[in-house]
Amino acid sequence: MLGKKTAAVILAAGQGKRMNSSVAKQYMLLENRPVVYYSIRAFEESFIDEIVLVTGSGEEEYCRKEIVQKYGFHKVKTVVAGGKERYHSVYNGLCALGKAEYVFIHDGARPFLSQEILERAGKAVLEHEACAVAVPVTDTVKLADERGFVQKTLDRAFLWSMQTPQCFRYSMIREAYDILIRKEEALISEGLRITDDAMVIETVLRRPVKIVEGSYKNIKITTPEDLTRAEIICRDEFMG
Ligand code: C5P
Repeated sequence: MLGKKTAAVILAAGQGKRMNSSVAKQYMLLENRPVVYYSIRAFEESFIDEIVLVTGSGEEEYCRKEIVQKYGFHKVKTVVAGGKERYHSVYNGLCALGKAEYVFIHDGARPFLSQEILERAGKAVLEHEACAVAVPVTDTVKLADERGFVQKTLDRAFLWSMQTPQCFRYSMIREAYDILIRKEEALISEGLRITDDAMVIETVLRRPVKIVEGSYKNIKITTPEDLTRAEIICRDEFMG
C-alpha cells in the first residue's frame, strides 16, 4: 500500500454459539471450502504484505495444515490462539505481528470482502489513520428503555452498520489496545462492552475514526440463515 508495510489480522477464534452447530462458523463449508478460506484469500490477493490468523486455542496446527498450507496462503506468517472475547483475540493478533505501519483487522466470518473495499479502506487509512468499513442502516432504529418501550427514533441519515475490515496506523491501535487490556477490569466493570475496534479508538484514545462505505454483501455469518444467504452470494460472486 503506497510503499507502507501493511498487515492483516484475521479473526477466527469465535465459537459461534448463535450458529447452533458443533462446527464453528468460520470453518463451515461454502462451496466446499471453509468460510475463513474466502476471508484469507481476499487479503492474499491484495496489497497486504503479511497476515496473522487468530484461531481458537488448540486449533493452530489444524489451521496451519488444513487451511494455510492446503490452499498455499503464503502471506499467512503466523497462526496464534485467540482469547475469550473478540478484543482479546485482536490483541493477541496485534502482538504477534511483525513490523507493520498499518493493520487491517477483519472478521474471519465475513467471506465476501472485495478488492474494491480493500482499496477504499487503504486510501482512507493513509489519510485518516483510523477507518472502519460500514453500510448505511436500512431499517428504522429506535432506542428503547430497560422495559422494552421506545424512547426515541434515531435519525437514519447518520446511522451506519459497522463491518470489517477496520484499519489503523499500527502504533495507534496498539496503544489503544495496550491501554484497554491494562484497564480492562475497570472499564468492563463500568459497563463498557467492546464490540469492534473503532470503539477502542473512540473510547480509549478519543480519536476520530473515518467511515468507509462497505457493501451489503460483506455479511458476517452468525446464524444458520446467514449461511443460506452466503451460499447464494457465493454462487453469484465466484461461480459467475
Ligand atoms: O462473535 P462475533 O460474530 O462478533 O465474531 C466476529 C469475529 O470475531 C468472528 O470472525 C469470530 O471468529 C471472531 N472472534 C474471535 N475471538 C473471540 C470471539 C470472536 O476471534 N473470542
